[in-house]
Amino acid sequence: MPTILLVEDEEAMLKGLRDAFEHNGFIVLAANDGETGLQLAEDHEPDIIILDVMLPRTDGFDVCRTLRKRGVAVPILMLTARAEEVDKVVGLEIGADDYVTKPFSTRELLARVKAHLRRSTEKVTSLEQYEFGNVKLDFAAFKAFKNKKQIDLTSTEFSLLQVLIKHRNEVIPREKILNEVWGYEAYPSSRTVDNHILNLRQKLEDDPQKPEYILTVHGLGYKFAGR
Ligand code: CA
Repeated sequence: MPTILLVEDEEAMLKGLRDAFEHNGFIVLAANDGETGLQLAEDHEPDIIILDVMLPRTDGFDVCRTLRKRGVAVPILMLTARAEEVDKVVGLEIGADDYVTKPFSTRELLARVKAHLRRSTEKVTSLEQYEFGNVKLDFAAFKAFKNKKQIDLTSTEFSLLQVLIKHRNEVIPREKILNEVWGYEAYPSSRTVDNHILNLRQKLEDDPQKPEYILTVHGLGYKFAGR
């Protein structure tokens, strides 16, 4: 049974959602505010998160950013009350996967949640362990091996690899990497991305000067070539 985390401060809405998801075979975790939501996400590792934008104190955007920074990779659907908020979600690229504008139909929301879960189960299983060339990555245990010897990667390098591999065979602009790895608030320069890419190549590529996996796409960004 999939576990869903609902973060919504309006009681009636929260109750309605809880009933609907329980009725559809979900294990439901519910929070009235962002802080509780973050705690529940950390303690129970839900499979998917529904996050209201307008929450007291820590709003949904901040919760979303924090979750992504902590490496939570599960789908996040934002609930927004107004169309402007939707622009904000998309514009900031805070790491949400989808948004639903209130009022919405429960059926529509359920359908979207199920679609995201189907996609993410494929992604998540392949991302817990990932192999390329003579490199083996265990994202769950934060361990990396090259030629069966363990190598040290920083948590940022793990996050960066996760982003690259999640979007493998796609061109990923530096700004997107910055947002997904470092988060929107702590905005380092795109040189930071370049430096981390160089380090990763040193550690993982057979010939860092002629990378086979972590590729530069000139003028556009980076691309991970893999299965
Ligand atoms: Ca609200």
